[in-house]
Amino acid sequence: MSCRGKDSVGEDVVKPYTPTTLDSDVGYFELVIKMYPQGRMSHHFRELQEGDYLAVKGPKGRFKYQPNQVKAFGMLAGGTGITPMFQVARAIMENSKDKTNVSLIYANVTFEDILLKEELDNLAKSFPGRFKVYYVLNQVLTPVKLSVCFLVSLSCSFRTIIFTFIHLTANEA
Ligand SMILES: Cc1cc2nc3c(=O)[nH]c(=O)nc-3n(C[C@H](O)[C@H](O)[C@H](O)COP(=O)(O)OP(=O)(O)OC[C@H]3O[C@@H](n4cnc5c(N)ncnc54)[C@H](O)[C@@H]3O)c2cc1C
Repeated sequence: MSCRGKDSVGEDVVKPYTPTTLDSDVGYFELVIKMYPQGRMSHHFRELQEGDYLAVKGPKGRFKYQPNQVKAFGMLAGGTGITPMFQVARAIMENSKDKTNVSLIYANVTFEDILLKEELDNLAKSFPGRFKVYYVLNQVLTPVKLSVCFLVSLSCSFRTIIFTFIHLTANEA
């Protein structure tokens, strides 16, 4: 669906978003939105207060899913591209007449960037053998963990240098 708002200089901005709720969730929809510090629509979402209205248009999109149209789906998603995959995967799993299997590879830069992780893990737990998720990361360690590793290795190298020095001095004596 399209959402309309105003950016930081008051200009109209329209951006597409994919609800994570289904047609069976009547009366409301949910969006998962990643906000960017300089993002135009992100600015609008940041300014929204509880009780405010949001102009939306939809639903839109050309992909029409029919239950059991294929035996299995292989899905590949990165970052916020997870929202349409999650929506389709949920629709498949929550339809008891649908026997389609889904394997999803979900790529992100860091562990902290993974969206909907709990929901994806719950789907995998609830439908073992039918829904599989594989997370792929560019940076496995967070900066904090990296700096701890760096300090540990630094301290190990330092201890090795001291040990080598003592060892050499002892041998010379
Ligand atoms: C079909 C469709 C469905 C989408 N569904 C969702 C959704 O469910 N949830 C969601 O959060 N977004 C979704 N998006 C992305 C969304 O439409 C916006 O592009 C996004 O929210 C950024 O908009 P913005 O105006 O805040 O940022 P912009 O003003 O467009 O960009 C500002 C800054 O942020 C950076 N930036 C913008 N987008 C990205 C990005 N994806 N990755 C890294 N840097 C970026 C830009 O480089 C720029 O520096 C979808 C996009 C499409 C095409």
